[in-house]
Amino acid sequence: MSMDLDFTAADHAFRDEVRGLIAATFPDHPPREKNAEDEAAWHRALIAKGWAANKWPVKFGGPGWTATQAFIWERETTAANLPPQVGGMGMGMLAPILFAYGSPEQQARFLPDILADRKRWCQGYSEPGAGSDLASLRTAARREGEVYVVEGEKVWTSGAHLADWMFCLVRTATEPKKQAGITFLLIDMTTPGVSVSPIISIDGRHAFNRVTFDGVRVPVENRIGEEGQGWTYAKGLLTHERTGQAYVSLSLNLLAGIRAAATESGLIRETGFASRLMTTEIELRALEMTELRTLWEVAAGDAPGAQSSMLKLKGTELVQRLTELYVEAAGPYAAPWFPATDWPQAPQPVGPAWARLEAARYLEGRAASIAGGTDEIQRNIMAKAVLRI
Ligand SMILES: Cc1cc2nc3c(=O)[nH]c(=O)nc-3n(C[C@H](O)[C@H](O)[C@H](O)COP(=O)(O)OP(=O)(O)OC[C@H]3O[C@@H](n4cnc5c(N)ncnc54)[C@H](O)[C@@H]3O)c2cc1C
Repeated sequence: MSMDLDFTAADHAFRDEVRGLIAATFPDHPPREKNAEDEAAWHRALIAKGWAANKWPVKFGGPGWTATQAFIWERETTAANLPPQVGGMGMGMLAPILFAYGSPEQQARFLPDILADRKRWCQGYSEPGAGSDLASLRTAARREGEVYVVEGEKVWTSGAHLADWMFCLVRTATEPKKQAGITFLLIDMTTPGVSVSPIISIDGRHAFNRVTFDGVRVPVENRIGEEGQGWTYAKGLLTHERTGQAYVSLSLNLLAGIRAAATESGLIRETGFASRLMTTEIELRALEMTELRTLWEVAAGDAPGAQSSMLKLKGTELVQRLTELYVEAAGPYAAPWFPATDWPQAPQPVGPAWARLEAARYLEGRAASIAGGTDEIQRNIMAKAVLRI
């Protein structure tokens, strides 16, 4: 059964409008996966249409979509290999903080560059010794007149090597309650004393970094809200990070790709493989229904709460299982070959192009059960909600 049955005529019209925009932007070829040129063209089209900041409130230039429209948007763009929004962490994660807690001057200073994708942001939260237990962070900021002097280290910082700015949690006081004494700072990555060194991940990519701060002087005007209130602001940001991590659109794409590949190779006729693929599809459809149900509830004014943990946990499990099935479908051609590898000894690719991506995608998929709160942390949240402990 398709959920289309529940869409109104206006929703169908909106979906046609979305498809029309995609077709008009890419008249000669369908968009290719993760392609900088296509992404720039897409961003220009979104700006022209007024849809670039599609999750922002109307007051700040958002289109004011309903939850259903946002859902249709996400499905249609992902199915077309296009990002639902351009602008990375600035657009998706920092902007909501600026709306809620930034001063009018900070909003005017940072939002236009985020919207235009002129400045890239990275998230400086995790540290060695402060991941799941984030409140244990120790990077210190000492006030000296009109600047904070920052000393310490952040780790797993995605995209820090490409970022112009970092939104960062620092400790400005040692309080008995760890959450108190944390402050939210915006740090210009070109400030003297900021060093970025790469961490190469298991899929051969350079996405992560270690960032150190050695006497980094940050103007007090770059502080969001009040000193010592950073934890409250960051908690709001994490909710934004966790909602929408069910990966259903991505999994639907993977499923279609696996089915096509396995049909071509004949693997689909093997009962064992076909049965596992089918079981996964059934679970994925159930997850899709759960996601839709949550969406309707949120639209009706309920907070998603522990449901977003459930969606993330199950979504992660399915995306990982699908990447395993994809590797199986690719067979020996999925042997390690990393499309974006920095290693000089990278082996030469063999076999069909689609198959070569799968080892990297499989390995990349492992990170999903860690990023944005580990599986164990999601289970803890769910247990607390259900058992009320
Ligand atoms: C793809 C990806 C991108 C990331 N990007 C960024 C980024 O841009 N910026 C940033 O700041 N961070 C980023 N991170 C870091 C991420 O936030 C942390 O990895 C995550 O919070 C877990 O922390 P940790 O790695 O220190 O593991 P730990 O917290 O040390 O956990 C180790 C193990 O112990 C388990 N564990 C910990 N506490 C409990 C508990 N209370 N109960 C049960 N089990 C527990 C965990 O589940 C895990 O299995 C990224 C991580 C990934 C994978």
